[in-house]
Amino acid sequence: MEDGLIYTNIKFLSKVGDKRAALLQKEAGIVSYKDLLYYFPYRYIDRSQYVKISEINSDKVYIQIRGKVVDKQTVSNGKSKRLVVGFADDTGRIELIYFSGLKWIYDKLNIGQQYVVFGKPSMFNNGFNFVHPETELLSVYTSMHDTEFLPLYNTTEKMKNSFLSSRAMASLTLTLIRQMHGHISETLPEYIVNHYKLISLQQALENIHYPQNMQMLAKAQYRLKFEELFFMQLVHQMQKTYRKVKSDGFVMAKVGDKFNDFYNKNLPFPLTDAQKRVIKEIRSDMRSGRQMNRLLQGDVGSGKTLVALMCMLIAVDNGYQCALVAPTEILAKQHCNSLTEFLKGLNVQVALLTSEIKGKARKNLLSNLQEGAIDILVGTHAVLESAVQFANLGFAVIDEQHRFGVEQRRKMWEKSKGRLPHILVMTATPIPRTLAMTVYGDLDCSVIDQLPPGRKPVSTVHLTDASILKVYDFMRTQIAQGRQIYVVYPLIEESEKLDLKDLNDGYDHIVQQFPLPDYQISIVHGKMKSEQKEYEMERFVKGITNIMVSTTVIEVGVNVPNASVMVIQNAERFGLSQLHQLRGRVGRGSDKSYCILMTKDNLSQDSKRRIEIMCQTNDGFVLAQEDLALRGPGDIAGTQQSGVLDLKIADIVKDEPLVRTARDLAQFVLDKDPMLQDENNRLLKQYITAHKVITDYSEIS
Ligand code: ADP
Ligand code: MG
Repeated sequence: MEDGLIYTNIKFLSKVGDKRAALLQKEAGIVSYKDLLYYFPYRYIDRSQYVKISEINSDKVYIQIRGKVVDKQTVSNGKSKRLVVGFADDTGRIELIYFSGLKWIYDKLNIGQQYVVFGKPSMFNNGFNFVHPETELLSVYTSMHDTEFLPLYNTTEKMKNSFLSSRAMASLTLTLIRQMHGHISETLPEYIVNHYKLISLQQALENIHYPQNMQMLAKAQYRLKFEELFFMQLVHQMQKTYRKVKSDGFVMAKVGDKFNDFYNKNLPFPLTDAQKRVIKEIRSDMRSGRQMNRLLQGDVGSGKTLVALMCMLIAVDNGYQCALVAPTEILAKQHCNSLTEFLKGLNVQVALLTSEIKGKARKNLLSNLQEGAIDILVGTHAVLESAVQFANLGFAVIDEQHRFGVEQRRKMWEKSKGRLPHILVMTATPIPRTLAMTVYGDLDCSVIDQLPPGRKPVSTVHLTDASILKVYDFMRTQIAQGRQIYVVYPLIEESEKLDLKDLNDGYDHIVQQFPLPDYQISIVHGKMKSEQKEYEMERFVKGITNIMVSTTVIEVGVNVPNASVMVIQNAERFGLSQLHQLRGRVGRGSDKSYCILMTKDNLSQDSKRRIEIMCQTNDGFVLAQEDLALRGPGDIAGTQQSGVLDLKIADIVKDEPLVRTARDLAQFVLDKDPMLQDENNRLLKQYITAHKVITDYSEIS
């Protein structure tokens, strides 16, 4: 049954209206009935189960209690006011604490009346209380719903303040589900529904909000995850096929003098097996006649730049220009220097373009580029500006892609004439296979899973702030041996001022501990002018300064092999992948290297786990897996802004087997019916059309 009801604007739902509709859209992205149906609860409360106040023993789970309000008072200490409500059942008393909406809540909760209170208890003075729990009159609550489970929804502060609490959302979804009954049409073909024994979409959406029982909840979740992952895979695979078939690429078949001369004369060390394998994979793309879009993953220090260079030489040998784009000026400069060094005596023209190159120099550079006199242009995002025109760009490398969105990749595509250049995206952010497959389904993947020989794992230790003097002593012995040291402070946007203060205080402290003339110290942070940053960085790179005090601006790619110690302050405030990136700055030379994670005394469970695992392993892939499990995939840098990982219910880590099932099914369906013309696949075709996936395979046979 085709039916447009599901696309109705949410403002028309009973009890919504214009004002709440605007808020729902702004705060939760809910525009239509459909959006609300797909706004899934994050958990459920079993309505038949009440916990006794005396039995509350954990701050980990959501519970509901039943009892009476016994007293209430507004307490004020200085600026902050709060409302403290005493609540009791026949086993004890507990306090409900409110910091905002005091008057409204004060009036709403009447002494002597029976309520249901739900929320997650908080630990307080060896006991428990509730902070901003939701409440409902017991009489209303017990007469309200016809299901056992009550859904809980994420809501923002703003929503709560406008009476769109989780409870209010629950009553909206209940209204909606009743109204939509019989109007939700199936999205998956019957043969798939039958084969995988899925419940209908109608049943799934009803049960995901108001499950009849646990079994139905499980079935609803399975059905919705299945659908989400399957459509994602279907779209990716169709786009990939499209690109492969449709996008003619420059053919770069020959391996010429430049590549061979480099390989035979300049290459200072043997390639690792992983590097060789990856170069082969890229080469076979380059001569295939199809345009390459490849993701090159490799842990920090695995030698991605060299791989990129050798592939660029093949492109140059075939008469094409190349671009190498880096996320920061410092990195672009470093790349330019190291390429120039590698290519000594080989007659390959390398040039650097950053926003610092201005005026005449810039004009000359651009005209050389346009005349084809430059073989490899290294630069920052300045390379993407439309004024930058190549004679014949054939191969583009984008380094550290988590700083680059899909949009940038597209700009790069537009730089070459007629055909798209081959694109190699390099990242040190180790993306677990399933995630790579799902997020980058439209890219092919190569992995360098091996470090060059002789690298020693970085010893990582955890110390609390009380040990700082010991750390300074250790730093002095390392400096005495000629080594250099990084000291890094976090910089988190919300509290930038405070962080900067941390950094400056830390710097002052270190200057005191390491006075001139025996010690030289650099400081770099994001708020400095870029010339000043460069100057400080340069002094450290050249070994003039012993210590580099900085924020995470040095996180990506910088290479100072003589640096052997990385001290990370407030390490509990960094994510795992960031810690790993930072640690990757040391251990690049032949010396034994150290990473010292400094934290405060009391750590949350999650922070403790992060620090522990950092001390246990140097393996980026293990860390990435752990990071995902700890933080959820939404936090992985780069995936959020690109919008590819817009999953509502599936969890790439926990649902890995289902990801594989979905991929295989998509493959199976498309193998048999690549254009989805079969009547059995009508619903799939509909989905693909609605989502504007390009399916114009008209040039295929
Ligand atoms: P990343 O993958 O982090 O970008 P780089 O390309 O910067 O790593 O390489 C790190 C260092 O390792 C560089 O100094 C590079 O010259 C060196 N290197 C690269 N490949 C090899 C190899 N096969 N053997 C020894 N050293 C290598
Ligand atoms: Mg690199």
